[in-house]
Amino acid sequence: MTSLEILCARCACHQTTCCQDTDIYLTQQDVARIEQHVGCSGFFEFRRPHDPVYLNEHDDPIWMEKVFRPDGSRRVLKHQPGGDCVFLGTRGCTLPAEVRPLVCRLYPYDYNAAGLKPEPASGCPRDLLAPGQSVFEAVGASAEAARRWHAMLYQELQLEPSEPASRRDHAEASGSTRQIGMPLETQAEQNSSGRYPLPRHAGDENWSDL
Ligand code: SF4
Ligand code: SF4
Repeated sequence: MTSLEILCARCACHQTTCCQDTDIYLTQQDVARIEQHVGCSGFFEFRRPHDPVYLNEHDDPIWMEKVFRPDGSRRVLKHQPGGDCVFLGTRGCTLPAEVRPLVCRLYPYDYNAAGLKPEPASGCPRDLLAPGQSVFEAVGASAEAARRWHAMLYQELQLEPSEPASRRDHAEASGSTRQIGMPLETQAEQNSSGRYPLPRHAGDENWSDL
């Protein structure tokens, strides 16, 4: 086990992680990649952010224009009861790294249309870092990979329809055939805190090569 795994595992025992109670925006291409992998489309919905922090993106007009629909909702992953991401399992994310939403791949990099910001997003537990260790180092986040995913994300944002509440989006979100969720036997394996080690970076081989 590396120090990276230890940080995410310790984080999961310490606080709500980045896969719990968060709004994960999906591009249409994210949806297509995930659909191809899981074989259905019931994993997303349109929701208004419950946390006002998600509305504070005013340094990024492209994000504000392309992500939000006129009613303030966005295309996001569904949650399981309790707030875990629909794809969070007992051993972390159940999606292969190359299928995960781009915003998940980028985390904990913070960014706007101009590029990556030098400081990480605030969610990782800095009090669990080793002395002198950076958040990026601790979670194995590669700046090179992040720059590539950032470029993909903003290319995909440009493909968002000018009429955001498109019929396709709405039909897919409201007409889901079946729900993705954690199997009952998996739920029974949850620890009492409901927190899991989250190897979203550390457990993926060749993560930064994707
Ligand atoms: S990394 Fe996986 S489990 Fe975590 S929020 Fe993203 S899709 Fe969900
Ligand atoms: S990337 Fe790891 S350390 Fe950061 S919030 Fe997610 S689980 Fe915690």
